[in-house]
Amino acid sequence: MQTPATRPAPLSIPDLRAAVGCRVIGPDDTDYDEARRVFLGDVDPHPAAIVRVASADDVAAVVRFARENGVDLAVRSGGHSNAGQSSVEGGLVLDVRDLKAIDIDPAASTVWAEAGLTAARLTEATVAHGLAVGFGDTGSVGISGITLGGGVGYMVRKHGLTIDSLLAAEIVTADGLLRRVDADHEPDLFWAIRGGGGNFGVATRFLYRLHDVREVVGGMLILPATSEVIQGFIASAEAAPEELSAIANIMPAPPMAFLPEEHHGKLVVFALMTHIGDLEAGQRAIAPFRALATPLVDMLRPIAYSEMYPPEDPDYAPAPVQRTMFLERIDRAAATTIVEFLEASDASLRAAQLRVLGGAMARVPADATAFAHRSSRIMAVLVNFYDKTPEDHARRQAWVDEFAAAMDQGDDGAYVNFLVNEGEARVRAAYPGTTWDRLAEIKARYDPTNLFRHCQNVPPAHA
Ligand SMILES: Cc1cc2nc3c(=O)[nH]c(=O)nc-3n(C[C@H](O)[C@H](O)[C@H](O)COP(=O)(O)OP(=O)(O)OC[C@H]3O[C@@H](n4cnc5c(N)ncnc54)[C@H](O)[C@@H]3O)c2cc1C
Repeated sequence: MQTPATRPAPLSIPDLRAAVGCRVIGPDDTDYDEARRVFLGDVDPHPAAIVRVASADDVAAVVRFARENGVDLAVRSGGHSNAGQSSVEGGLVLDVRDLKAIDIDPAASTVWAEAGLTAARLTEATVAHGLAVGFGDTGSVGISGITLGGGVGYMVRKHGLTIDSLLAAEIVTADGLLRRVDADHEPDLFWAIRGGGGNFGVATRFLYRLHDVREVVGGMLILPATSEVIQGFIASAEAAPEELSAIANIMPAPPMAFLPEEHHGKLVVFALMTHIGDLEAGQRAIAPFRALATPLVDMLRPIAYSEMYPPEDPDYAPAPVQRTMFLERIDRAAATTIVEFLEASDASLRAAQLRVLGGAMARVPADATAFAHRSSRIMAVLVNFYDKTPEDHARRQAWVDEFAAAMDQGDDGAYVNFLVNEGEARVRAAYPGTTWDRLAEIKARYDPTNLFRHCQNVPPAHA
């Protein structure tokens, strides 16, 4: 929240251009509209300027300028913030998209990856060496945002969250210093950036441990979504070996060319899954899913891991209303609730997304990183699209709220990267108990004036 004491100052573009050595894009530039665009179709701020940084020195110069001039600052990487926090009305966007260097060490199975890369671009590069780090389900998501919030994807049960493969990072803090953080250097800050989001500075690059992905069975499986199949799918995912991670989207079937027309619009389990390891074991692991019902589409096969990130439509700009939550179980009653809510809605897209957790992710102690939900069993996102009018937003929000209340099983935690603008109580839900206190204390040390507040903000402890 802005207070009078922290109200941002107007930004002078000539002063900014004089202070930084890289491209500054203002409202008078022809590419301003393209440069200010983010992923979500209902997020449309007009920043005073966007700085396309080309180096860590540029990042430091922009951070110093913003601090010294009291400018409202947002940090942008892949632009997929669910809360629209990678831009800021009338403020300054520090855009890291042009930081794209990749330095793979195949012998050590590590990669230094610059902060402007997307999950798809980095994965494509590392898979060429038979190696990868796990990000999420969408290739266009930036490695920065997903890593700093945790990272739940196709390797979550086998190798944990993205942050569980993060060995080090370089980050420019509010004082303008570029710091290396890892287990031995500034360990508190290293703890905080593994789940604490954009609160602590601007990451310029990340060092990841890479995993062997030479043998992967994966792809898409579409099943008819009865409550029995939904329950069976989750039970199978929980019983599966840890090599297998599955994301089940229960939703009306989109009109896809490869899906027979009579199924379009009918509820399906649209599953994306990977088994990382021996190919025959992979086929055995997916057999129980295939046996739940006659698949409507079965594209599970040996793949290159990078195929999990197919090309995307650059003009896709969804306007979702959504809520994230953790669940303990999907029994028949929960599965029936899912079917009933999805059938009762007429939103152009509506879905319950379920991810079975556990495995390597759950073996990391809850206080080892700022992502504390290590024992949660299932991550859910309930989502529907709205038509960008306030009336429709209210209607779709009511559906999400009622759906979430009906699904509630007593775990009031939240995954920070799936939060929208839900207020401080929900940010606290992402950082339960002592996690919040420790983050706030580290924030006070590294960002006492809350320069980095355009994020799921943890204010400094003394504020
Ligand atoms: C379609 C879609 C699919 C998704 N799928 C998954 C998924 O499968 N698993 C999952 O875990 N998450 C998923 N997410 C959530 C995603 O991880 C977050 O939205 C993430 O913040 C996006 O990162 P970004 O770099 O693209 O976003 P941006 O909007 O560029 O950044 C988001 C925030 O991260 C911070 N930030 C970005 N770059 C930096 C930096 N270099 N230094 C410091 N702070 C920075 C800023 O606070 C910024 O507001 C998905 C989101 C979308 C929209």
